[in-house]
Amino acid sequence: MTANLASVAYVGAAILFILSLGGLSHPETARRGNLYGVIGMTIAVLATVFGPRVTAAGLPYIVGALLVGGAVGLYAAKKVQMTQMPELVALMHSLVGLAACLVGFASYVDTSIAYQGAEKTIHEVEIYIGILIGAVTFSGSIIAFGKLSGKIGGKPLLLPARHWLNLAGLLAVIWFGVLFVQAHDVTAGMTPLIVMTVIALLFGIHMVMAIGGADMPVVVSMLNSYSGWAAAATGFMLSNDLLIVTGALVGSSGAILSYIMCRAMNRSFISVIAGGFGTGGGAAPAAAGGGAQPQGEVTAVSAVETAELLRGAKNVVIVPGYGMAVAQAQHTVYEITKLLRERGVNVRFAIHPVAGRMPGHMNVLLAEAKVPYDIVFEMDEINDDFPATDVTMVIGANDIVNPAAQDDPTSPIAGMPVLEVWRSKISLVMKRSMASGYAGVDNPLFFKENNRMLFGDAKKMLDEVLVALKS
Ligand code: NDP
Repeated sequence: MTANLASVAYVGAAILFILSLGGLSHPETARRGNLYGVIGMTIAVLATVFGPRVTAAGLPYIVGALLVGGAVGLYAAKKVQMTQMPELVALMHSLVGLAACLVGFASYVDTSIAYQGAEKTIHEVEIYIGILIGAVTFSGSIIAFGKLSGKIGGKPLLLPARHWLNLAGLLAVIWFGVLFVQAHDVTAGMTPLIVMTVIALLFGIHMVMAIGGADMPVVVSMLNSYSGWAAAATGFMLSNDLLIVTGALVGSSGAILSYIMCRAMNRSFISVIAGGFGTGGGAAPAAAGGGAQPQGEVTAVSAVETAELLRGAKNVVIVPGYGMAVAQAQHTVYEITKLLRERGVNVRFAIHPVAGRMPGHMNVLLAEAKVPYDIVFEMDEINDDFPATDVTMVIGANDIVNPAAQDDPTSPIAGMPVLEVWRSKISLVMKRSMASGYAGVDNPLFFKENNRMLFGDAKKMLDEVLVALKS
């Protein structure tokens, strides 16, 4: 493939990536967006592999690597459960970071192109920044993977003087950066480069370890953004325009998503990345953490009583949460929705921006169950409607409906906007026990007078409710 043809292919792929992002912004166009992305990536890979910069001798290695990587990806995509997707995404971000580091070191030791003067400095700065972002993304994403999969506890690790530690790390990175650029040869430059990489790896670990459970959504989207910037940095190192454009697209869209997540959590972005600021003045949000102990009586109901409540309702709101994903209850939820709608009940869904374990988690599940988009509402659109709602069914959600966020300033989730389900005539929470959610905070909703609890696996209980509704 000639250089010109490869450039045309790159422009085509870049346009498809932009169209893909546009499509992914709404559930109705998401499939199309995904398809654009797949086509764009196929064109990008083919134009790179058969482009002018790959020699015939290198081709078998690249094809071999593609086959191995493709097979691992295919296996993971087929095997991973929907509930494990956030962990998989975190793991993939870590690979982008690792790739940026490896490409950075390879470009530094590669002496086939002799850079001189300003060009040499620019190339070295690209390498330094590329490895810096890559190392933070790599180690941060590995810790995020551990936290999302439950292998590492959700409790924040708040080291004493942690902000000073971060500041000292930043100053050291700048200092070693100067030494690196001033180094006369590769051997002299390697030491500051390796020291900076170690500092960046430690910073990535420290940053994510200091994040409390409830702030994880911001970290997930932030690492998504970092992985984009790491890819863009790789593009600079390799002088690959498409990688720069694609990385910048992922980086900036991830940054916008982080901003949206911060707004949803009522957190400041800077405080979250500085680590630990967003955890209620340093209070640990884990089960043993801050917040007053809720008191009162819990009213448990059966599936048959739940069906009775639904039968008598005119307006029903369904709030899905992580537990619905675990139970894979979305199809039964839609069966119940259809039945109620056929009987003239106004059924709507309320989606909290951080419900589940990844942005858009609930929308994906509801779309999979073919729930029409026009009855699915964002938190801001529906929060004022709860007083006019007869029954709100909370299915496997916990943190996103916790009134402590509003009522208890000592709560680790204080200030986080929540779905005000307790303002409906009856709120009905389906979960297996009184256990807390991801943020590890007790929920006073369960003790409210107008609240009912239907204990059990969400899918099993909803199946029983459906049978009772039909009988
Ligand atoms: P939560 O984690 O707060 O609560 C989920 C509840 O589901 C649990 O309390 C659990 O209770 C219940 N549950 C689990 N399995 C089942 C089952 N099989 N059947 C019925 N219930 C079940 O989830 P929410 O969606 O309310 O809130 C999301 C939380 O995750 C927030 O804290 C958010 O910050 C965090 N988060 C979100 C991310 C995102 O991007 N959306 C990323 C990372 C974290 P029990 O064990 O008693 O059944």
